[in-house]
Amino acid sequence: MFWQSNKFMKTIDLALSGGLLCTGIITGILAIASPAHAATPKKVLVVTTTTGFRHSSIPTAEKILALLGQESGAFTVEYARVEPNDPQFKGSDGKPDKDKVEEAIKTVLAEKMSPAALKTYDAVIFANTTGDLPLPDKEAFIEWVKSGGGFVGMHAAGDTFHHFAPYLDMVGAEFKKHEAQVEVDPINQDSQCPACRHLPENWKVFDEIYQFQNFDRTKVHGLLTLDKHPNNKTPGDYPISWCKQYGKGRVFYTSLGHREDVWDPNAPDRKNPKEVAEAYQKHILEGIKWAVGLEKWNVKPQKSQE
Ligand SMILES: [Zn+2]
Repeated sequence: MFWQSNKFMKTIDLALSGGLLCTGIITGILAIASPAHAATPKKVLVVTTTTGFRHSSIPTAEKILALLGQESGAFTVEYARVEPNDPQFKGSDGKPDKDKVEEAIKTVLAEKMSPAALKTYDAVIFANTTGDLPLPDKEAFIEWVKSGGGFVGMHAAGDTFHHFAPYLDMVGAEFKKHEAQVEVDPINQDSQCPACRHLPENWKVFDEIYQFQNFDRTKVHGLLTLDKHPNNKTPGDYPISWCKQYGKGRVFYTSLGHREDVWDPNAPDRKNPKEVAEAYQKHILEGIKWAVGLEKWNVKPQKSQE
């Protein structure tokens, strides 16, 4: 929003200094300068709570998602987050008190993900969540997506709710394993799609690459994939990113997003050039814009049922 209003003021300045005081022309300029959705940003809930492995990139993910919303003017974020290292959870041994952390997770999810609270959001993002999250009503969450909500998952969102089949069905796959972090060159499966049409032909990204089970190509519209094992390069089908219609709802998932430098062009300790993070940000921004209903995409599975 900030840069947009700056741009807006600049447009006005230019218009005035150029002596273009004709109302008709200024109105025309304003229409071009204001993105169609800027007036009513969508509302997104960013969930980063974990009951399993906790990624060190979570604070980066939280920061970048807010920034993308602000800069695009497309959405605002609210969080359901609990940072276990916060001093309020410190136990007598100096480490986070497990019970206190669990209680805090339960409390924040009860507040932000109750059926009533969900109605106030256009999409829910699971950014590196893990484990069986204590949602107040997990069936109601799935129903909310099915009835027209948006769901966006990054990386470990695929490693969440292994014991809740409707969630796995909604996401479209279940994390099986990963090996060492590695550079891969994902195949762009839809060069028309805003989430990947900006990616260069030989895009390379260094990250922890997930391998999945319970993945069915006839149920998703593939966006990025590998035609070989990420690590040993044996030929095979290794999906990276996809989207799907889920009832009346929209689901976007990308397995990328383990490393800080995939999320953030300014993160230190880089294995990825900053352009990779910029491309990743565009990938997820467009995914979110579609999930909240601002964009329309082709979501037809490329592979038909036999
Ligand atoms: Zn990871």
